Parts: sequence; C-alpha cells; structure tokens
Amino acid sequence: MIEGKWHPKGSASQSDAELSVNDLGRYVIKVENGTFYRGDFSKVQISERLGNVKRKITLDDGSVFVTENNNAIDEISKEYQKASGFIHYLETHLGWIAVALIITIITAFSFFKWGVPWTSEKIAHALPSETNRVISSGTMRFLDDYILEESNLTKEIQDKISKHFYEKIAPLSVADEKQIVYTLHFRSWSMNNIQIPNALALPSGDIIVTDKFIELSKNQEEIDSVLLHEMGHVVHRHGLEMMIEGTFITVAVMMISGDGSGIGDMGMGLGSALVSSSYSRGHESEADLYAFKKMLLAHINPKSFSTIMNRITAYISTEENRTDIKSDNSTLLDYFSSHPTTQKRVELANHYSECFKEGLTVCK
Ligand SMILES: [Zn+2]
Repeated sequence: MIEGKWHPKGSASQSDAELSVNDLGRYVIKVENGTFYRGDFSKVQISERLGNVKRKITLDDGSVFVTENNNAIDEISKEYQKASGFIHYLETHLGWIAVALIITIITAFSFFKWGVPWTSEKIAHALPSETNRVISSGTMRFLDDYILEESNLTKEIQDKISKHFYEKIAPLSVADEKQIVYTLHFRSWSMNNIQIPNALALPSGDIIVTDKFIELSKNQEEIDSVLLHEMGHVVHRHGLEMMIEGTFITVAVMMISGDGSGIGDMGMGLGSALVSSSYSRGHESEADLYAFKKMLLAHINPKSFSTIMNRITAYISTEENRTDIKSDNSTLLDYFSSHPTTQKRVELANHYSECFKEGLTVCK
C-alpha cells in the first residue's frame, strides 16, 4: 500500500489516496471520498525520478496520483512497468524519438566536422609561443626516444644544408605575420628496415629532415621546396590544430564511452599524431601555397616540389612491394601510399612553375 494524494484532472484540489498493485499488475487507487480507480499499471505514466521530488502517476482519465514514496514506486515499476511500459512509451513517442535521434546525429556530425576544426584553429592561433616551445620540446623528446635515431649524414653535408637554409630559406619568413625562429634537425628514421624519407615540422619552428629524404633529393631546390612547405605548416599552426583536434576527439570519445583509459595515451600527443596521421587536404594545400609563393620570391622553380614528392611516393611504393610490408599493420606506409601527390597539387605546382618561367614573383 502506497500512500499519497489524488488530484482530479486539471485541478489543484487534492484528496488522500492509497495505491496498491496486485500480482497481475492491476492497480487500485482508493481515494478518501470512496471512489476507486482501477487499471493496468503498465499503462499509467510515471514521472522520472528526480532526487526526492514527489512522483506523479498520471492515470487514463488524466487525474494524478502523487506520492513521496519514491522507492516503492521504483519497486513496482521495475516489476510491472519496464517491458510493456517501455514499448508503450516507444509507441507513443516514436516520432519524437526519431526527431531527437536525427538532431543528435546532425549535431554530433557538425560538431566533429566543423565545430572541432574551427575551435581547434582558434585555440591553435591563440596559444602563446611559450606553449609552442613547451609542447615542441616534449614532442622532440618523444620522437627521439621512440621513433628517430641519430643522422648518419656527414657533418659536412649537414653543415652545407643548414647554412643554405639559415641564409637563404628561413629569412624568407621575415615578411610573415608571425615571427618564428626556424631550426633544422637531422635524424634517421627507419620502420621495418625501410628508411623513411620525410620532413616534420614542430609548432616551435623546429624542422626535422630524415637522411633518406636528403638522399632522395637530387638538388638543393628540391630540399628547399619541402622545407618551405613545412614552414607553411608552422606558420598556419597546422600541427597544433591537429593535436588539439585529436585531444578533442579523444576526450569526446571518453566522455561518450565513459572510458578513461585513453588519458595516458594523450601524453604522446603531437609526436604520434605527426608520425601516424596526416594533415588534412586543406592543410596540405595551404602549406603548398605558402611554399610556392616563397619559391617565386626566392627564384626557385615550384616544379621541384612535385618532382621530389613524386620521387618519395615512388620510393615508398617500391619498398612496400619489395618487402611485402602491406600485410603488416603499418600505418605509416599506408599513409604514404594513400596520399600520393594528387593531381591538384601537381597542377598548382605547374601553374606556379609557369609564373616562375615568366620571371614573375607573384602568381595569380
Ligand atoms: Zn605537408
């Protein structure tokens, strides 16, 4: 027997009442004025439990039974309401459930598709350079500890490339909105005994070039073109954006799944993002454009960029076939093979190359 109050439909007046439910799930409400209400308990509507707020049970005729005995209501609804009540709820609310589901999907999609990149970009550009430095030194340590090894290039070669970079290429950034101090680092990188040709830029302006990349480059201009492309990623803060986006998604997934075990993985942050995932197409074309514009100013043929990129792609696919690495779970080589020099990038390089041949320093 559950004690409570009974209210007629749409009225504030109330009478003492008692609710009981029998083994067959039939309820009886006995009101003090002597009237009885009977029916199937699975058909009544019960308000959600909110702390100690009184529970409202709405009967078929719209009158309401209210009680403070939340626990007793939970007991009997568990027994008699759940299955049939839930189906009843679905039947009457199906339209709204569908609408809510669609809104949820659209919202989540928009959040990840536009909200996260937009917010990440804003955060990336708002971060002070001190933060960049801290993040980058952590990233460099991670890469050196787990991914990269010391360069095998001779000191002469390293010095020659560095000298040219510091004297001719890095100074091209003086006209940029953000002043960044670029530093060149030489490392070797191998995976499954394959030497990886690559260049990576950290948000601080530290740029890492691998031995194999230098080895595959046929001339200074090809090296310059890739370094300028990396500088484009730094100026536009693509690495930071990628890291912030990744963090957002990790946190969102943890919030949805309620699983906190991903927290530790986030520590690897940018380092793993840089070596395992790719910049978006938009980021790549932004960096390409930066490089091509600077190349015209420095009288370097933009064609050298697509030439070296094509050679890197060709090298990777040859190595892949030679070592049958495809059966391995190697994200890096997947990344290279699924991101060949796209037609669009080549076309843009050619377009800028035409301007270069005409002796222009600005290309429309
Ligand atoms: Zn890039």
